[in-house]
Amino acid sequence: MQKATSNRPKASNTVSIIAFTSSGLVTSALIAMDFIGDAVYLSIGTHLGGAIIINNQIYMGKEGHSGTVEHMTINPDGPLCYCGKKGCMETYSSVNALLETGETLDAFFENVRSGVVCFVKRWNAFLDHLAFSMNNLYLVLNREFIIGGHISSYLKEEDIRILHEKTNEKSAFPSSDRFIHISHSPAKGVPIGAAIPFVQSFLDTI
Ligand SMILES: [Zn+2]
Repeated sequence: MQKATSNRPKASNTVSIIAFTSSGLVTSALIAMDFIGDAVYLSIGTHLGGAIIINNQIYMGKEGHSGTVEHMTINPDGPLCYCGKKGCMETYSSVNALLETGETLDAFFENVRSGVVCFVKRWNAFLDHLAFSMNNLYLVLNREFIIGGHISSYLKEEDIRILHEKTNEKSAFPSSDRFIHISHSPAKGVPIGAAIPFVQSFLDTI
């Protein structure tokens, strides 16, 4: 695994918090892969998170919020997001958006895999919205996608095949390339990933 020194967070302002979070997200992906190169990382957890990885490093952008795809407007008249705006990707493509009150991912996917129609329909609608956003991102960035977060351990290759199909259906440039991958980062990968730059920073001093 490559050194993550340039991902090193500073805990002084909001931008640094974004950097810290992104660092955790991406480094958790780096844990599972020796080399990513260029990619878009989507962490689909209770909330959605994202990061753009260029040359194996997080691209932070001018003000540090590059990759915060969760607040891209998908539908100006959509549900209220916790950021105060309406119809952000967060409100369609997070675990919060997927589950109803009191549901768990375990129970949800048990029903989906058992073919319970109303759950299969909800999962299909979720993948449809995700494909809508991923198509837009793919048109702009044209890079590999890695899907991580709480949902990743429930994903099957069939879901990724459907996601490719749905993304291509919406694209002006359909591609036969497989550009969507499931992250194999471990459970609690984000806190582990967030800690790695600090460990690396310490190791650099000795
Ligand atoms: Zn938002």
